[in-house]
Amino acid sequence: MANKIRVTVWGENVHEKDMPKVAEIYPKGMHGCIADGFKEDPDFDVRIATLDMPEHGLTDDILATTDVMTWWGHAAHNKVDDHIVQKVKTRVLEGMGLIVLHSGHYSKIFRWLMGTTCSLCWREANERERIWLCNPAHPIVAGIEGPYFEIPQEEMYGEPFGIPEPSETILIGHFEGGNVFRSGCIFLRGNGRVFYFQPGHETYPIYHQKEIRLIIRNAAKYVAPRGGVWKDNAPHIPKEQAPDPISKK
Ligand code: ZN
Repeated sequence: MANKIRVTVWGENVHEKDMPKVAEIYPKGMHGCIADGFKEDPDFDVRIATLDMPEHGLTDDILATTDVMTWWGHAAHNKVDDHIVQKVKTRVLEGMGLIVLHSGHYSKIFRWLMGTTCSLCWREANERERIWLCNPAHPIVAGIEGPYFEIPQEEMYGEPFGIPEPSETILIGHFEGGNVFRSGCIFLRGNGRVFYFQPGHETYPIYHQKEIRLIIRNAAKYVAPRGGVWKDNAPHIPKEQAPDPISKK
């Protein structure tokens, strides 16, 4: 690929510091592991940004040069500055791709873009999850052996999921305890594409799993900008500047 896809992996970086089990699974942070998944493919240039950096690592320059952002947050959604969230939202509307992971369902950026509660039901019980491919021919699941794959242990996320109807539902998660969930969904917002991907509870090594890394990479290619940047404006056009009338024949 001539032009690499510029990915910014955003991580909250809280559990890595306050939960030894998470630090053990993810010695480079969850964000470091997610970034390593991108580094397996030369089509990507990857950078990391975390909550504790100035401007949460999302400066104007980083935002302007990001094609796709991934977002993992859980314990500190309310510590993300509204001003930064607005800038990320603007970039999505302009055409930046966004991949929201797991507990990011309650992040400001996801809730603002969805306009709904994004609530769900959940349970931490070391359940096996079977993820079904709704469309085995979809580019986001390219290379995944269908009709399903499994995650050995995951937190249960279940319906009802308070999202608007997705433009594409790509994955359905089925948990050992019986619940089901829309685990992979695409939403269109302005000129941008948003992929919500459910797997990734912090106490399991899910972002080391090859199918998960592949789906995140496929999704980044799918939500990457396909055309120009939508710069929003709403100009008043006075009559004297109106286009020439369509001639009547
Ligand atoms: Zn979780």
